[in-house]
Amino acid sequence: MQTSPSGAPSEERLEHKENLNVLTSTQAIIREALEKLGYSEAMYELFKEPLRMITVRIPVRMDDGSVRVFTGYRAQHNDAVGPTKGGIRFHPDVTEDEVKALSIWMSLKAGIVDLPYGGAKGGIVVNPAELSFRELERLSRGYVRAISQIVGPNKDIPAPDVATNSQIMAWMLDEYSRIREHDSPGFITGKPLVLGGSQVRETATARGVTIVLREAARKVGIPVEGARVVIQGFGNAGSYLAKFMHDAGAKVIGISDVYGGLYDENGLDIDSLLEKRDSFGMVTRLFKNTITNQELLELDTDILIPAAVENQITAHNAPNIKAKILVEAANGPTTWEATQILTERGVLIVPDVLASAGGVTVSYFEWVQNNQGYYWTEEEVMQKLEQTLVKAFHNVVRMAETRGVNMRLAAYMVGVRKMAEAVRYRGWV
Ligand code: GLU
Repeated sequence: MQTSPSGAPSEERLEHKENLNVLTSTQAIIREALEKLGYSEAMYELFKEPLRMITVRIPVRMDDGSVRVFTGYRAQHNDAVGPTKGGIRFHPDVTEDEVKALSIWMSLKAGIVDLPYGGAKGGIVVNPAELSFRELERLSRGYVRAISQIVGPNKDIPAPDVATNSQIMAWMLDEYSRIREHDSPGFITGKPLVLGGSQVRETATARGVTIVLREAARKVGIPVEGARVVIQGFGNAGSYLAKFMHDAGAKVIGISDVYGGLYDENGLDIDSLLEKRDSFGMVTRLFKNTITNQELLELDTDILIPAAVENQITAHNAPNIKAKILVEAANGPTTWEATQILTERGVLIVPDVLASAGGVTVSYFEWVQNNQGYYWTEEEVMQKLEQTLVKAFHNVVRMAETRGVNMRLAAYMVGVRKMAEAVRYRGWV
């Protein structure tokens, strides 16, 4: 046994170590899902990593005349079903493994909501808050130049993700059109409406979460009206969600950003918080009586919605979670071990690959509209989104119930099945 300098057994050895690597933990669930579905080891070997992963260096001329070189990634997980699809995040903690895992999750989402895509993901290691508007533009354009060979409307279609938005998509579209020398709105989704964006895309992730949350609440028998809701994260997903939950008559008792959380057992004034929120989703620094993000997750609530980053609910805090329903608007907020603890405790988990699939669903609608050059009304998009997600939710519930597995494994099984079938038909495995 390893010992510490004092001679006592080191804490590291005694303490149970949970796997917090999002790639290897995702691989373990993929393996289990494929095994349960009866697929071979070779299928797992194919799915455990993206088919393609590129790392790029992006030199950017800063406003003061100096040059900074940024690192970016694009992972294309699997294109057996169709072109790959997935967002691009700007975050200082982006890593190669994270981007790979995120690309696998995109494949699963596409399978769960039955889109003709495989998954992809991109990321740039950057804190966008440190860059000026023009520096952000140069970085966005530089990234597109660096990956232009492997993307395109029938190859790989990017979109927004953490800290990227419709303005960034517009710059990226413009750069791509210049390189290709033709207009190509289907190259990227999440665009501004005037450049071929879709109705509802801006709010799509939050809308999708709202739809599956309503289905989950019905299943558990908790009326959304009057239910207590806690939301971690106040970015694109979290802030719109707070609004939709508030409008649906739920009591949003807690919200947070990276600096901390706000709590009021009688319900927070969401409209005023939305007004005060800055463009990066920060609001809590304006208040004195904040709580920590950990305290926020453990609040006594009916519904908990992590809408921020990975590994927030782990084996460490899962026993203290009081919510009856956990709806994951973020990618990867709950570890596999925490999933098992919560499932055993009777918490209904609506996993990320299902709950957050509203974004890519409306991205698909945007791409279809771009391809046909004919645009749908808000009502049409909402109706199609509703149908798609309600069906996906019940498919996952059915899989969980018939196969006696938890909701996350069920979602992986539904998500991976179509891709595995496509691989088999193509004769790859
Ligand atoms: N970034 C979003 C996600 O993680 C949306 C991706 C897309 O629209 O392609 O699902």
